[in-house]
Order: sequence, then C-alpha cells, then structure tokens
Amino acid sequence: MKDPTRPPVVPEIEGLLPYIPGKPVDELKRELGLTRAVKLASNENPLGPSPLAVEAMREALAELHFYPDGGAFYLKQRLAEHLGVQPSEVLVANGSNEALELIVRTFRWPGCRAVVSAHSFIVYKMASIAANVIVDEVPMTPDLRFDLEAMAERIGDETRFIFLANPNNPTGTWFDRASLVRLLERVPPDVLVVLDEAYFEFVEAPQYPDGVALWREYPNLIVLRTFSKCYGLAGLRIGYGVLSSALNRYIDRVRAPFNTNLLAQRAAVAALGDDDFLARSIAHNRRTLVQLTDGMRRLGLHPVESVTNFVLVELPRPAQEIFEALLERGVIVRPMGGYGLPYHIRVSVGLEEEIGEFLSALGDVMTERRR
Ligand SMILES: *Cc1c(COP(=O)(O)O)cnc(C)c1O
Repeated sequence: MKDPTRPPVVPEIEGLLPYIPGKPVDELKRELGLTRAVKLASNENPLGPSPLAVEAMREALAELHFYPDGGAFYLKQRLAEHLGVQPSEVLVANGSNEALELIVRTFRWPGCRAVVSAHSFIVYKMASIAANVIVDEVPMTPDLRFDLEAMAERIGDETRFIFLANPNNPTGTWFDRASLVRLLERVPPDVLVVLDEAYFEFVEAPQYPDGVALWREYPNLIVLRTFSKCYGLAGLRIGYGVLSSALNRYIDRVRAPFNTNLLAQRAAVAALGDDDFLARSIAHNRRTLVQLTDGMRRLGLHPVESVTNFVLVELPRPAQEIFEALLERGVIVRPMGGYGLPYHIRVSVGLEEEIGEFLSALGDVMTERRR
C-alpha cells in the first residue's frame, strides 16, 4: 500500500531553493512608475544580438513547422572548424546550463560527490544536488580567487566531478595556465573536470589558458562555452562543450532528441561568422569595464578586478538594501546574498550612459544614508 505520509520528493530536492528570477523589466517600471529602467543584472551583451544571427533567424522563420536538426549537424561542424576539433567532440545544449545538467545526469555514480568553489556559479551546486550528487564546497582565497590547491586536496575516492569557472561568475576573477595544468596533473582520471569558459571571448590576460587548446591532453576535461554572453544570444539558450567522443556518445543517450531549437542553431552558426560584432563587443567591454571600475573607485569602493563583462563590489551596507534603493531609481543590479556575499553586488557592463546612470544612482544612495 502507498504510504500517504510519504513526502512528494526526496530530501535532496526538498532542500533545494528555486532560482529566483528578477521581475520582468516592464512590470518593474509599471510598479515603480518609472519611464525607463537600466538592467545591469545578468551579464548580457549591451550591444544586442549579433546582427548576422538576427538575419539568419529571420530567414529561418518560414521553416518553423519543422523540428530542429536533432544532431545539430551544421552547428557542430562549424564549431568543430572554429575550435580545431572533430564534430563528434562537440556537445550542443540548450544553454551551458543544460550542458551542466546533462554532464551530471550522465556521469554521476551512486553516492558520488562534486568539488565546487564557494562564491562560484550556483548552477554547479543546483545541477549536482538535483541529481543526488553530494557537493563539497571549498572556500576561496581571501582575494576571492579559486583556491585550486585546496580544491585538488578535497578530491576523495567518491569524487566524480570538479567544477571550475574561468573566469568565475560572480567574482570576475581568473586563474592562469600553469595553475590549471598543475590541477589537471593532480586529478585522477576518473574525476571529470568541468571547465566553464562562459566569458572566454572577453578575457585578454596573456596567461589566461584556452581550455580547448589544453583539452586533448586531458581526456577527463570537459570545456564549456556559450553564445549567451559575448555573442549576445542569451534569450535563445544555446551553449556548447568540447569533450571526448567517448564521453559525448553517453551524453547523446541521455539528452532529449531536440534539445536545441531551430532558430538557436541557425543563429549560432551565423554568430560564429560575425567577427565584426565580436570585435565590437570586446572593444566595448574593454572600455566600459574601465569606466565602471573607475567610477566605483571614485565613490570610495574597492571593486574586484574583473576580466569579464561584470564587476563585483563590496558595499558599506547590506547589498539587499542598496539593491532596493537602486531599484527605486530604475537601476537593476544583482545582490549577492545567494552566493554567500551579503555585502556585495554584481554589476554588468552596459552602454556608457547606462553605467553613468548606475554610478550616479549609487552615489546618491550611498550619500543619502551617510547624512
Ligand atoms: C552566464 C554563465 C553561463 C551561461 O549559461 P547559459 O546557460 O549558456 O546561458 C555559464 N556559466 C557561467 C559561469 C555563467 O556566468
């Protein structure tokens, strides 16, 4: 007989907190009586989507009665060319979020564990816990960098995954090639190293490692990238990964047959060829990142040095309070309480005038209280 007192979900699911999305910008404007709002909360590309991608989608609209190509043939082919790998070594997914979920669901063992860093991308934890993988969280260094030595130290007999973001969200910090190689040399072959390079295109630091270039030497390495950030296609949900064909074949057994949609596949192929848009996005980011960090410093703050399209900064008051005060002024940022940083906000790079509005609103909010 069924036990009527049995809870509807296992304790692991019960303990998860749902991801809380921000309100739609239009709704916020209506509620607060604002005529305009500046959204610097999700690390989106302020220049919009790649124009070549938009054009490709317009052309694809008449084909939407067809299912997408379940094997993403052309996209995998273009990505393989672009990355110098074989199409069979490319995974495409409904955002790198889905890639993370697929990896955990496909390769988990009963009772296995995942090593993650504190103050790192929350999806590593969410995807692991939802698949009954036990998470071991390693503290960061005091300057908010991954402590790769401590993470390697934490690997035990049951460890199956280690999740690295380079650069990391929400800190904007990164690690160099030598540190990554040292870690890869130490990791046992049955531990999968998931290296998330969502902000790869923006990074200009000379010692920054290209995971795909390293990948062939380490068959347990999986490198993830996305079209959501520099390519400006966050709303389409399309990301990709590079991994051994042997691993990829297992992913193919688990993933839904049509996990990426037709428009996203076409747009991604076109975006890969839009060098002009990519160059403009990178140049814009280089300029506005300086504008944003310098502006924060002028307000007496100490932003964490970032190589991405966002900046993490500690505030003199709880971040939630400042977040709400900024919201009333029509500026949306991300308070970092959920990432274990209750005094920090994360601010994405926007257009120059948007950053100007944010800085002036933050200045107002900070002086108001001091009075
Ligand atoms: C934004 C981001 C992603 C991208 O996720 P998508 O699902 O591809 O939109 C992945 N990893 C990190 C660390 C990110 O910040």
